[in-house]
Amino acid sequence: MGLTIMSTKYDVLIIGAGVVGTLIARELSQYHLSIVILDKSNDAGNATSSANSAIIHSGYDPEPGSNKAIFNVLGNKMFPLLAEQLDVSFTQLGSLTLAFNEEQIKVLEQLKKRAETNDVPVKILTKEEVLAMEPALNQEVKAALYAPTAGVIDPFNFVIHAMENAVDNGVIFLRNHEVTNIVKDVDGYLVTTNKNILKAKIVINAAGVKADVIAAMIEPIDWKITPRKGEYYLLDHYAPNLTQHTIFPLPSEKGKGVLVSQMPSGNYIIGPSSEFTDADDLATDADTLAKVKTAALNMIPSIPFKETIRVFSGLRATSTRGDFIVEHSNSNKHFINVAGIESPGFAASPAIAKYVAEQLVKPIIQLIPKANFNPRVKRYLRLAKLDDETKNKYISQNPDYGTMICHCENVSLGEIKDLFTRSCPPMSVKAIKRRLRAGFGRCQGGFCQPKIVLLLAEQYKIKPTEVLLDDEGSYIIDHLVKGETL
Ligand SMILES: Cc1cc2nc3c(=O)[nH]c(=O)nc-3n(C[C@H](O)[C@H](O)[C@H](O)COP(=O)(O)OP(=O)(O)OC[C@H]3O[C@@H](n4cnc5c(N)ncnc54)[C@H](O)[C@@H]3O)c2cc1C
Repeated sequence: MGLTIMSTKYDVLIIGAGVVGTLIARELSQYHLSIVILDKSNDAGNATSSANSAIIHSGYDPEPGSNKAIFNVLGNKMFPLLAEQLDVSFTQLGSLTLAFNEEQIKVLEQLKKRAETNDVPVKILTKEEVLAMEPALNQEVKAALYAPTAGVIDPFNFVIHAMENAVDNGVIFLRNHEVTNIVKDVDGYLVTTNKNILKAKIVINAAGVKADVIAAMIEPIDWKITPRKGEYYLLDHYAPNLTQHTIFPLPSEKGKGVLVSQMPSGNYIIGPSSEFTDADDLATDADTLAKVKTAALNMIPSIPFKETIRVFSGLRATSTRGDFIVEHSNSNKHFINVAGIESPGFAASPAIAKYVAEQLVKPIIQLIPKANFNPRVKRYLRLAKLDDETKNKYISQNPDYGTMICHCENVSLGEIKDLFTRSCPPMSVKAIKRRLRAGFGRCQGGFCQPKIVLLLAEQYKIKPTEVLLDDEGSYIIDHLVKGETL
């Protein structure tokens, strides 16, 4: 059966709803433009943007003058306001990069110079100073580079709320739309997906590890993406307070090295490794994780690895150019590549989005500001953050707020139901997990998952056997053995 060509011709079509594509959509949604954003996944931020260290790097490390340095430093400054507008947890913890001998102290001094060139505030701390700040560090530490502007963010909700805000401002988000071909059309492009064919005047390629495949659909390219996998441990948030800052080793040609950091949720994240692999390889393996553990214990000997609740991995979109690619295509200004966005891509993403709008889109289409653009999402109610009196007030108004679904992370039925009223609602079990952390805790969904399956079935008027764990086809239940109810 042939695919339908949709009649609407969008001003802008964005491929990829990771942090980069989503922020570009949000940035452009402040202008009078028709915008559609597609993802092959069934949620926003479901690929690399939800499997990373979630550090809003200060920007002391990238090569001065590179796109990585420019966008990272600008992006870092944009996060406090953005996190507030998008109602996302963000903390400026500051980072410490450790040196364990005289040679490494010389590298810290070079990094300090680089930081000064990149206009990033840093300070070299003595052994006594760094141990006073972080007593759990290996006592052999000799010095550290302190970067106070480094932060940590909730990466899941940052992307999801940015998408919600873009949709609130008129953007159309099409899930489960995998782009399979693009051809030049009069005044634009025809973009073929697994579902239909869409027309657009401008196409923006933000397809992460697949951005080279998308770019090559319209012209030969002289760069390639080779995914570089990073594997992690995630500790429960009941693990004791180990450190107050993000702790890095010295960076190397393989990246920033194995870090230890507390996420806004209180969980410690430990990793990542760095190995080239294939685009779809997200497997974790014991040998690599053992090396991650050794590297982390070298910095902090008392890490309670027995508190591990899961291991996971993410894929960096490492390009042969060695830098972010943010430019018009060679053959046509109406096709824009935003590719090779490996670390510090999350930190850089707001600045990349602004650059794409103001420097790449503005010269080719008129950008007329909307008077009614609203940069803020409607506030989320998180009962766990409230005092008992306020909680009780909400529960007396709506008893669903008093019905616990996830006991590990304290998530109520009312909070899950609230998600379905938002403009980027969850369609799967994992989508609820990313938004509210239900299933993120010690039991990893053992207790709450069956209830969440039933809730999704009720919400979307489908059978529990049709409920998805994650993307299309990821069914979890074969049949019900008892008449399960909430
Ligand atoms: C291990 C690791 C650690 C990291 N740590 C940090 C960090 O601490 N700080 C930091 O700043 N950065 C970090 N990064 C980098 C950061 O995560 C990325 O730069 C950022 O998430 C890239 O976002 P993106 O939108 O470009 O890609 P993605 O999030 O991968 O989004 C691309 C989207 O395109 C979609 N797509 C692909 N092909 C198609 C198609 N054919 N049709 C439709 N859709 C398609 C995918 O489904 C995906 O959703 C890390 C990355 C990794 C892997």
